[in-house]
Amino acid sequence: MFYHIITSIGCNLSCKYCDKEEFGEPDEETYDYKVPCKISYDLEKLKTFVKKEDYVTFYGGEPLLGMDDIRKIMDSVECQGFMIQTNGLLLHELGAEYVNKFKTILVSIDGDEQITDKYRGEGVHKKVMENVKLIKEQGFSGELIARMVITKDSDVYAQVKWLLENGFENVHWQLDAMFSDLEEMKWLEKYNSDVVKLMNFWIEEMKTGKVLRLYPFLVVMDSILRNERSLLRCGSGYSNFTVVTNGKISPCPIMTLMKKYYCGDIDNGYKKTFVNWRCLACLDYDLCGGRCLYSNILYSDLESYEKLCDTTRLYLKTLKKRSVVVKELIGKKVISLEAFMHLKYNGVEVIP
Ligand code: SF4
Ligand code: SF4
Repeated sequence: MFYHIITSIGCNLSCKYCDKEEFGEPDEETYDYKVPCKISYDLEKLKTFVKKEDYVTFYGGEPLLGMDDIRKIMDSVECQGFMIQTNGLLLHELGAEYVNKFKTILVSIDGDEQITDKYRGEGVHKKVMENVKLIKEQGFSGELIARMVITKDSDVYAQVKWLLENGFENVHWQLDAMFSDLEEMKWLEKYNSDVVKLMNFWIEEMKTGKVLRLYPFLVVMDSILRNERSLLRCGSGYSNFTVVTNGKISPCPIMTLMKKYYCGDIDNGYKKTFVNWRCLACLDYDLCGGRCLYSNILYSDLESYEKLCDTTRLYLKTLKKRSVVVKELIGKKVISLEAFMHLKYNGVEVIP
């Protein structure tokens, strides 16, 4: 099992992605606005709740604002591996002995300085890049994944290439489109063509023997090559659960404050949650897996949901088409099937 442990509800940034009017008016029935900012349950409980075969991912807010608890958990909880999703600004303060223990670090960065600072704040890009350099110099040898958000202002092709050329070997991206109206979502047409361009670049690199670890392509192509069906690819609600600071359990880290959807607590365990009819009835479900439990529960009746599905379907269809070439390259031993291997549920959502 995979657990997101929330170590801080607060964040040291106010990125434009989180600061949205679309999140609406306060809703006391759905949200618990009194969830403590830091962990309030007895950390000893995690020692029995987390089993040796599990993985723990620290998450927030900004999880490093709770770095004392991160250290205590890493010192006392036995599991298969620790991971963290962070904005990267405080990585230099955690200490190399802890940073080097992470199996995976997912750092939020949108590409070059201009696009990152536009959405995350001035000077953020410089600090993140400094910290990424520092942790590598201090011996971090785990997986470092750049987590991007793609907006109407970003060119996914150019920005992913920038990250690949500047020290990131693993890249994932998410679309900032769920809450937009249909008129605003027109930029997805350009995104769709940029994704195809990026996919073509990915295939060309394979012809030289390199399988670039672009997660939205890598994971789905792996399923196609192995002829595997997939449930929700982030694992939320069935393989991936979130332990909130008050000890409650939510099916997904984005639903941390949403008491209405809590599915258990650290004392009594939890029950599983799956995507609803909208995805179960979809012809692309086996490959897509449902994209996002959170939006499926809350927004699957919106027109914008279907519009995003059009984008998902196009990308899945293009990957299926390109799999013919990939299979040929594997057959000729230019690349291997093993090059697509990855740890499932490591914090990347997979479907953008
Ligand atoms: S394409 Fe859309 S409706 Fe189909 S499974 Fe994915 S998220 Fe669900
Ligand atoms: S894809 Fe959706 S359900 Fe999965 S972790 Fe992200 S917000 Fe949660």
